[in-house]
Amino acid sequence: MSETRLREMICTFARSLYDRGLAHGSTGNISARTDDGGLLVTPTGSSFGWLDPARLSRFDSKGAHIDGDRPTKEMPLHTAFYDTRGNRSGAVVHLHCHHAVALSMLPETDHDNALPPYTPYSIMQLGRVKILPYFQPGDPAMGEAVRNLEGQRSAVILANHGPVVTTATLESAVYAMEELEETARLAITLSGRNANTLSAVQVQRLIEVFNIDYQP
Ligand code: ZN
Repeated sequence: MSETRLREMICTFARSLYDRGLAHGSTGNISARTDDGGLLVTPTGSSFGWLDPARLSRFDSKGAHIDGDRPTKEMPLHTAFYDTRGNRSGAVVHLHCHHAVALSMLPETDHDNALPPYTPYSIMQLGRVKILPYFQPGDPAMGEAVRNLEGQRSAVILANHGPVVTTATLESAVYAMEELEETARLAITLSGRNANTLSAVQVQRLIEVFNIDYQP
């Protein structure tokens, strides 16, 4: 994909997330790999509603900031995924979306597998979603916590903060993030109501048929 097109897509997806209330104020950040091995990143303090394609932060393949506004302060989160997941990570999306944040704070949430297996799509698009601890904004330990996963997870939720999702393409990362938020919303809607989930056999069959990375 051309860099011009990728810049436009980042801004179009960001605007769509903003318009649907999934990224309020200046929260959220997106990064995506360019064809030359560099990165485009949303700038620090910018609102998803009003991003300018020409001002996105541009990094070269060695990780040097070469153009555009200063990148998000949450950059260590992004580079931790790229460095540990190789070509399985072509884009990283991070939001502070309502239901995913709420789920991270509920006492019944399983911190190793936060989304109950309600629908096949959450399993297919996200695998197991891990809750990482709370970190103060800007704390580099946030990135270290992702590195410690050794590339085994494509989706995490930072407790009391928000989810981070990575996949091979920008488009699929945004869709997976939307699936995470919708499944978190289901989990909260159904909390304490003894809802039917997929059975362990049904989950296992999904993992096998769709070759899902479902690391224990
Ligand atoms: Zn954040």
